[in-house]
Amino acid sequence: MKSIAVIGAGTMGNGIAHVFAQNGYIVNLIDISQEALDKGLSTIAQNLDRMISKGKINEDDKTSTLKNITTFTELPKGVAKVDLVIEAATEQLSLKLDIFRELDTICESNTILATNTSSISITQIAAVTQKPEKVIGMHFMNPVPIMPLVEIIRGYNTSDETTIAIMSLSRELEKIPTEVNDYPGFVANRILMPLINEAIETLYNGVAGVQEIDTVMKLGMGHPMGPLQLADFIGLDVCLSILNVMHDGFKNPKYAPCPLLVNMVMAKKLGVKTGYGFYDYSESKKAKNVSAQFK
Ligand code: NAD
Repeated sequence: MKSIAVIGAGTMGNGIAHVFAQNGYIVNLIDISQEALDKGLSTIAQNLDRMISKGKINEDDKTSTLKNITTFTELPKGVAKVDLVIEAATEQLSLKLDIFRELDTICESNTILATNTSSISITQIAAVTQKPEKVIGMHFMNPVPIMPLVEIIRGYNTSDETTIAIMSLSRELEKIPTEVNDYPGFVANRILMPLINEAIETLYNGVAGVQEIDTVMKLGMGHPMGPLQLADFIGLDVCLSILNVMHDGFKNPKYAPCPLLVNMVMAKKLGVKTGYGFYDYSESKKAKNVSAQFK
């Protein structure tokens, strides 16, 4: 594989584009929003600068990485001739089905169609295409340039050939692919999201404050980041979507999202990306101060 398209230039899409471009792939980065593309490119440039300051890459590496990325606001132009498409658009079923229906009509027959979805059924997404054997989950972790895991999700009809190609590609990117089957939340979020939801429930029930909950989990359990800060980092809208998918998929009340999470998403307090979540990011992306509502 030499060329790829990444659909969505948000938190995950820009990280995925960065990693492929740094490894010499030609990357078409596509988003319906020009603002998201501009922000995505500037995030990639900032992350490359951080790598330069740490001595991991040099200025030439930064220039060649950025040169490998071309941005598009329309799907057809960006995906027509690539070997692999990775969809990393908003976590919303109808949106992903629409994108895959369109990809199915535009892409060449040998193109592999991957989705970075956190929880939505790969089998359901694949079913709107004529080539479900070519559809697979490629679930990168946030931040993509740093986290080694890629959860590889086989849909019901994903072929061995597609799975082997994506496992081997992930290794080429110096990631560690781990194959799992297609059930709601897969493995990563089936375990992580109930933890985050319980932390929010603990706050909602007034058992402890934001910093106290995060401190207990960081210092007591050795987690590098507390669950509320992690939720802000992932995006509260993304957390809510994943919990809803698991709640619908398993019909088990243990996955019901906490009402506080639902309220915060409705109020557009989505975490780092909107400046406020459990913490206040209006001045810095570091979670120094708790948001006013939780003081
Ligand atoms: P985000 O909200 O940061 O970015 C989504 C981007 O998709 C936006 O820029 C939006 O403009 C764009 N978009 C929406 N509709 C589009 C369309 N039709 N065509 C092209 N672009 C479109 O979201 P994110 O956090 O980057 O999540 C993207 C995907 O990655 C989701 O499926 C999510 O579940 C998954 N994911 C997220 C995380 C995380 O930590 N945030 C981790 C792993 C996987």
